[in-house]
Amino acid sequence: MKKYNPVIGNMPHILHGADYNPEQWIKWKDEIWPQDMRLAKKAGINILSIGIFSWSMLEPEEDVFDFSWLDEVMDMLAENGIKADLATPSGAKPAWMGKNHPETLRVERNGVRNEFGGRHNACLSSPYFRRKVTQINTLLAERYKDHPALGMWHISNEYGGSGDSSCYCPYCRAAFREFLKKKYGSLDALNEAYWTTFWSHRFTNWEQINPPMPAGDTNLHGLNLDWHRFTTWQYIDFYRLETEPLKRITPDKKCTANLMNLFWPINYFELARELDVVSWDNYPLWRNSEKDYEVAQNTAFLHDLYRSLKQGQPFMLMESCPSAVNWQPVSKIHAPGAHLSHSMQAVAHGSDTVQYFQFRKSRGSSEKFHGAVVDHEGQGRTRIYGEIVQTGEALSRLDAVVGTTVPARVAILFDWENWWAYTDAQFAHNDNKAYDEIVREYYRPFAEMGIPVDIVDETCSLEGYDLLITPLMYMIRDGFDEKIRRFTQQGGTWLTTCITGYVNDTDLCFLGGFPGPLKDVLGLWEEELDALYPEDENCIKWREKSYRGFYYCGLSHVLPADEALGQEASVEARYGKDFYAGYPAITRHQAGQGQAIYVAARMEPEFYRDFLGALADELKLRRVLPEIPYGVEVTSRTDGEKEYVFLNNYLPREAQVSIGEGGLDLLSGKEISGQVNLSAKGILIYQRKFS
Ligand SMILES: [Zn+2]
Repeated sequence: MKKYNPVIGNMPHILHGADYNPEQWIKWKDEIWPQDMRLAKKAGINILSIGIFSWSMLEPEEDVFDFSWLDEVMDMLAENGIKADLATPSGAKPAWMGKNHPETLRVERNGVRNEFGGRHNACLSSPYFRRKVTQINTLLAERYKDHPALGMWHISNEYGGSGDSSCYCPYCRAAFREFLKKKYGSLDALNEAYWTTFWSHRFTNWEQINPPMPAGDTNLHGLNLDWHRFTTWQYIDFYRLETEPLKRITPDKKCTANLMNLFWPINYFELARELDVVSWDNYPLWRNSEKDYEVAQNTAFLHDLYRSLKQGQPFMLMESCPSAVNWQPVSKIHAPGAHLSHSMQAVAHGSDTVQYFQFRKSRGSSEKFHGAVVDHEGQGRTRIYGEIVQTGEALSRLDAVVGTTVPARVAILFDWENWWAYTDAQFAHNDNKAYDEIVREYYRPFAEMGIPVDIVDETCSLEGYDLLITPLMYMIRDGFDEKIRRFTQQGGTWLTTCITGYVNDTDLCFLGGFPGPLKDVLGLWEEELDALYPEDENCIKWREKSYRGFYYCGLSHVLPADEALGQEASVEARYGKDFYAGYPAITRHQAGQGQAIYVAARMEPEFYRDFLGALADELKLRRVLPEIPYGVEVTSRTDGEKEYVFLNNYLPREAQVSIGEGGLDLLSGKEISGQVNLSAKGILIYQRKFS
């Protein structure tokens, strides 16, 4: 198992920090800034992200710059032993730019150009905007390249922002056409890929092609898909523009861009390849009730995704909130103990940092009631500040964990391109395709069993996994069928569901039956797909127990041996109802040294628990602990020799967990073993030998 370098090379600690916006308090800086430093140090804060929304303070008028206040902030951080995660300011541009250069403002999908306002409201193709971004990033890098506070670079903020993140201006349309020319080479190839003869849409000139817009075309699914790919490419291209001067002037400083949740507009697997380290902003809807276990599982899925974006390399929890998130539908405060629990969940899944938005709560504007390290009270006398100090103390005991990773042998597919194409396709449940819901239904049992999981897309390597699960793999991107074929040949188990292998990567249906090029590996073909109304269900009996199938029911036929690698698939369960009673519902097919399993319907949670539990036993998948009570998450990180086991109780009541031989409790410094008690929202982290 690999041990990775610390996020900031010379700081082998789990970093603790926040977004810091001292320029908001510049009028009171003599009083507030020293207070900030005192409170930061007391909380063990060693990194602060600065300058994220500072463009209007750094360049108050066009080409008039003022770095004096930032010089003071950088010096102050250095004096206090705190590293700056210094931001490029492109996330929000100054008002003068919107007024003087309206072509820098984004044109929305309705074709109307925005006024100045909000954030992320920029056209990434605008030559002026690009020139100004290069200019200010170069000035920042030149000015602070040798500054002792400079730790790393925080590129822009939450690329994409709100809306669909795209700009539909003439510059962007032209760039889109260039992107398509490069991809297809000829209009004939594009017309074929998009099946444009349907509805008489054949293009005879590149200039006829526009982005998908309500006033024009939204039903050319191949075009829709390419627009998503183009949008991703635009952000990657813009990231390269932003980082060019930084990489040139400060080549030893890492760059990150803070990502968000499952962000529909940008394929994060693609963008992450560009980043030196992945970071993300985590704002779950914690409930302070029994429901928090489900919230924790959904959050765990995201942490695992962000770790997997760079093949297990530790990521950064760039933003989180120590209490109420003011913009959520219900802005609930966090119960005592919750903050440490939520923070440690990120570390347990592979984060090497715990950071917040923001350090000092703003006095005005939109996030003035968003939880922060320092409240409007200002002196650190709040309950939340106390919990942040406690978290800082706990993190200071986890130096050994830095650079370790999570030993996953199970991979679950979450593929952005598949998500776009499958959601866009008109069939089955057009009201809610439920892609990420169904992917998470397969994830949860592993979380409950304490079996680590990586999240992969179709471009990822499958080396090192025993089990690959590909729910709703509607699209088989070029080459992924071969990867799956090789994976099973070499002994891997591939589990897939209905709606697998319907289309290729330009959204053209495979001919000859689904799942297209993987029929022989799966040993069956799916002839029809039934979409069920909410009041309908089927019944599927597996190993003497009946389970509810709902939402989707795939109608499939087992292929004869000569079309299925020489062996027929065995049917483990059949539908019990409707005209397709007796059709296969679960099949298993020997494929090379491995096997391929098909689950035809969306199933109730108990089925996933039972079925995946049995499969985990059959494949001898390693569980961190053999028995885990409901509501407790058990995960681990390792460098291949030592293992750091994290227990986290999400329920508002005590839990008992048996940890067997146990090991060294990293927070108390004592040896522990046998039965341990976890308080409500309690955590435990111990070290043992990895085996
Ligand atoms: Zn544009």
